[in-house]
Amino acid sequence: MSTTPTTGQDTLQKFIFDNAAVRGELIDISATWREVQARHDYPAAVKKVLGQMTAAAALLSANLKFNGSIVMQIHGDGPVNLLVVECDADLRLRATAKLTQGATVADDATLTTLLNAHGKGRFVITLDPLEKVPGQQPYQGIVPLDGDDVATVIENYMLRSEQLDTKLWLAADDHVSRGLLLQKLPYHGGKAEATPLNEEEALETWNRAVILGSTLKEQELLTTGIDVLIQRLFWEETIRVFDPLHPQFHCSCTREKVGNMLKMLGREEIDSVIAEQGQVGVDCDFCGKHYEYDKVDCAQLFASTDPVATLIAASDAKH
Ligand SMILES: [Zn+2]
Repeated sequence: MSTTPTTGQDTLQKFIFDNAAVRGELIDISATWREVQARHDYPAAVKKVLGQMTAAAALLSANLKFNGSIVMQIHGDGPVNLLVVECDADLRLRATAKLTQGATVADDATLTTLLNAHGKGRFVITLDPLEKVPGQQPYQGIVPLDGDDVATVIENYMLRSEQLDTKLWLAADDHVSRGLLLQKLPYHGGKAEATPLNEEEALETWNRAVILGSTLKEQELLTTGIDVLIQRLFWEETIRVFDPLHPQFHCSCTREKVGNMLKMLGREEIDSVIAEQGQVGVDCDFCGKHYEYDKVDCAQLFASTDPVATLIAASDAKH
């Protein structure tokens, strides 16, 4: 269960330049970010990278015309094995980090030393629609870790895979995770979706926005509320600010999903744990919720047949 913060809400603020050439978002999460860290004692460098990814996932999610979850993962080959952040269409977030066993993490470790020590790190974005049509698979993009910080990796991904000019400024510490996103609105065949500007003028607005964003320093982002930041950065621009959105922590784990994960480990593995311990206990990596499966539960897991698998088996049998 997520706890509702008693003071202050986490906020995501969307805005658009009045000439509609650039859109932006600022995010400030503290309660959600504390909830993510509540059951873990991550090294400072891991907190920083995971916090930046958490802010980025919410920023991208709020920008998508898509009803479903965005899952952002970095698979690492260094002291950190995996970072995962999931954000749904209602900006409900969960995140976790898996460290390589026995690894030590220096306070000043970077994205590269943490996750790409041997150049095998991978950045994975999955878009998982809420309502799938039968047989539909989630969309997944996998790219090498191209950049030494989370913002650069995502900017490169957005440009190459989505053809969208995106700039991100991200910062996180023990208390807050904050970020600024700017995106150049698509301009098709000399005519933008909603801007009265010609292509050159739209590009000028974009370049100006990026220069203004680039004046933002990490420490300033960590210590300044987003209302103040919008004013400070864009006071010379005419921008339209939308109603604020409120990200919050939420874990989507269920007994059924954990059961499916146990099934993937295979009967032999599960039977050996039952033989040794009498039951299988699993803690959710994201929220810490504890699930237990005794001998009967496990027998049922492997006895129950997935309805989809039954259908496929039945149709195969006809041929
Ligand atoms: Zn959970």
